[in-house]
Amino acid sequence: MQKVFEDILSVIKDAFPAQALIPLHAPVFPGNERKYVLDAIDSTYVSSVGAYVNKFERMMCDITGASHAVAIVNGTNALHLALILAGVVREDEVLSQSLTFIATCNAISYLSATPVFIDVDKDTIGLSADSLRQFLDKNARIGQDGFCYNKRSGKRIKACVPMHTFGFPCRIDEIAQICAQWNIMLVEDAAESLGSSYKGKHTGTFGTLGTFSFNGNKTVTCGGGGAIVTNDENLARRAKHLSTQAKVPHAWEFVHDEVGFNYRMPNLNAALACAQLEELNSFVSNKRDLAQLYHRKFKSLKLSILEEITGSKSNYWLNGIFFENRHQRDEFLTYSNENGVMTRPVWELMHRLKMFSGGHNAPLPNSEWIADRLVNIPSSVRME
Ligand SMILES: *Cc1c(COP(=O)(O)O)cnc(C)c1O
Repeated sequence: MQKVFEDILSVIKDAFPAQALIPLHAPVFPGNERKYVLDAIDSTYVSSVGAYVNKFERMMCDITGASHAVAIVNGTNALHLALILAGVVREDEVLSQSLTFIATCNAISYLSATPVFIDVDKDTIGLSADSLRQFLDKNARIGQDGFCYNKRSGKRIKACVPMHTFGFPCRIDEIAQICAQWNIMLVEDAAESLGSSYKGKHTGTFGTLGTFSFNGNKTVTCGGGGAIVTNDENLARRAKHLSTQAKVPHAWEFVHDEVGFNYRMPNLNAALACAQLEELNSFVSNKRDLAQLYHRKFKSLKLSILEEITGSKSNYWLNGIFFENRHQRDEFLTYSNENGVMTRPVWELMHRLKMFSGGHNAPLPNSEWIADRLVNIPSSVRME
């Protein structure tokens, strides 16, 4: 095994030469980042109102093709707000993946709703349309009020939150169809998939609402930031209203017409976000070049790696290699991290965490198979 591990590390080290410690994903700021941030400071508009916030929202519409975008302080809160707008309330169930980042489930929990886990596909590593269909056929019924109910728990299944894992689009058109058939709101967690599309349509735009993250480790970052996209004008208006303390617009009066949130992205972050969004296309093609290089080299080492499925375009946020089993995975994690190459396994599966365990989920064989084998390897944008 040692020989293969050495070969993998030399491929990675060749891809990122002259770096003593190769991070998993480091941000780069090659364009107008400094200029826009200084401009925001000079304007004195560094907080929740400013020209860059509006510009950021227009850019997000252009990039995703959504008719509305609302700037939010981070991806987790974007998801929280999107679920509120989707009508999720206390005691509802929300279908999602066990193989996801904790933020997906935390956002569901903020509403005192319960995540119920559906399996992922082995090839997309995102929510499986087949698993979703089977789960609903077996466990769900449509109530007299027209909503979908879980026959076993008696709870309403209000929403479904698929996640485009590591930037690889899941079979989101099929998922959208199933959700429509069962009257389940579709909210896409597209935090990791800015720049990824499925059948020519940007991820995050298949459901009623989609959310993005601009955290430091994502493909483009503004330190911390998020966005909600939607084609529904009323939902967009409500998203902006609720994210700005539900303040009734007025030149000097402070009147608020419901309980709102301080979830607006500050102009300082939006300045950085605008500059980074200008680089999105070049970042994605840079990352796709790296993925191609990895594919070529790892194929000749007979290793299986993450690849986009036909009809989808991945931003290749994080590349991944599959090992034979958990033992081999762990040996590689130790070896690579001890030798200057940062690698990591997928997140501990959500249904194994104490907050989210014990539910009646779909069978999760693919999630468990992937969690035992997949390792993410360095995937940053490479500068000259
Ligand atoms: C990063 C991420 C989020 C939330 O992002 P923050 O901006 O850090 O709050 C949500 N879901 C997934 C899957 C993510 O990877």
